[in-house]
Amino acid sequence: MTYKIYTLGCKLNFAESSTIARKLEQQGFLRSVRGETASRVVINSCAVTAQSEKKARELIRRVVRENPNSEVIVTGCYAKLRADEIKAIEGVTRVDTVKELTSYSLAERTRSFLKVQDGCDYHCTYCTVWRARGKSRNAPIADIVAQTEQIAATGVKEIVLTGVNIGDFGRSTDDTFFDLIKELDRVGGIERYRISSIEPNLLTEDILRFCSESQKFMPHYHIPLQSGCDSVLRAMGRRYTTDEFERKIELVRTYTPNVFIGVDVIVGFPGESDEDFEQTYSLLERVRPSFLHIFPYSQRPGTKADRMEGQVSAIVKKERAARLKELSDRLLAEFTAKNENAPHKILVEGTTKEGKLFGHTENYLRVEFDGDKSTIGSVVDLEKL
Ligand code: SF4
Repeated sequence: MTYKIYTLGCKLNFAESSTIARKLEQQGFLRSVRGETASRVVINSCAVTAQSEKKARELIRRVVRENPNSEVIVTGCYAKLRADEIKAIEGVTRVDTVKELTSYSLAERTRSFLKVQDGCDYHCTYCTVWRARGKSRNAPIADIVAQTEQIAATGVKEIVLTGVNIGDFGRSTDDTFFDLIKELDRVGGIERYRISSIEPNLLTEDILRFCSESQKFMPHYHIPLQSGCDSVLRAMGRRYTTDEFERKIELVRTYTPNVFIGVDVIVGFPGESDEDFEQTYSLLERVRPSFLHIFPYSQRPGTKADRMEGQVSAIVKKERAARLKELSDRLLAEFTAKNENAPHKILVEGTTKEGKLFGHTENYLRVEFDGDKSTIGSVVDLEKL
């Protein structure tokens, strides 16, 4: 009995795939070796954009074709949203869902992605994820702490907390995300936590204060903006205004100077005029995050936004994305330059092809440097980058 897993999409899927692998191994399956066909193949799919669905469909067809005698199981968001479409592909054995509320990945030696929350009650008008993943829910804090201890026992030093809407943690257990991070901070062996992505309205002052005082929570936030124009934000069904976003970023910087801030932006949402886009651009120039994750709006069947008037052409979306990419490159260069001559603590993650060590600073800059391989997996001091 051998298995193979293909994972598409986000870090949540990667965490869940690791859990699927561990469960299969408990049932007696062995991971198939390269080039060998596995008796069971799992495809953990994604449906965040039309392109992700296309990729998932193509992968399923290829796996079925190349593994005619294997059991092929499809799971993940695409499987949840388009089960009938998948069942119609000849050769697919089963469409399944992952039910675990916590999972963690151990693919990297020094970093693990820990899923602490699933589902979302926000229902943004462009999004299919809340449909695929259902209501916001989580495991009890004690269970998450136990999983964190298991991760620590493997020698992993850094955990990235992931979820669909992580700041909404506690909805099903009557806790808060703040309660969770206070408990996680006490787990021995873990030296670094990062919070994968948190809605600006849910990133509270309590959380910011606690993380700034903690030795373990890194000065690194990933905060979705999506649009710098209030009417677009409203049409998206987002729960903050541009003004609230700007004030939140100021607060982040008050508590955490020299913080790395990654920001998500969608370009070409239905009805986004040139002027609306310019508002987004100038807000980002003002706020100066360290990095932009840029997503051209993708029409998703079944969503409200898909039926909205004023769909933006692919060419305009591409142009807007290119302008933001250029801005993002500038912002990252500026942030990197600001950090260059300062001391940093680096978690050494491995070696490059050229034999140098590499790792990340507290504020998420990737660095390469000469050093001793025995330091891999530990935190070292660098006087300057
Ligand atoms: S917050 Fe909005 S975009 Fe994020 S998962 Fe929930 S519905 Fe989707």
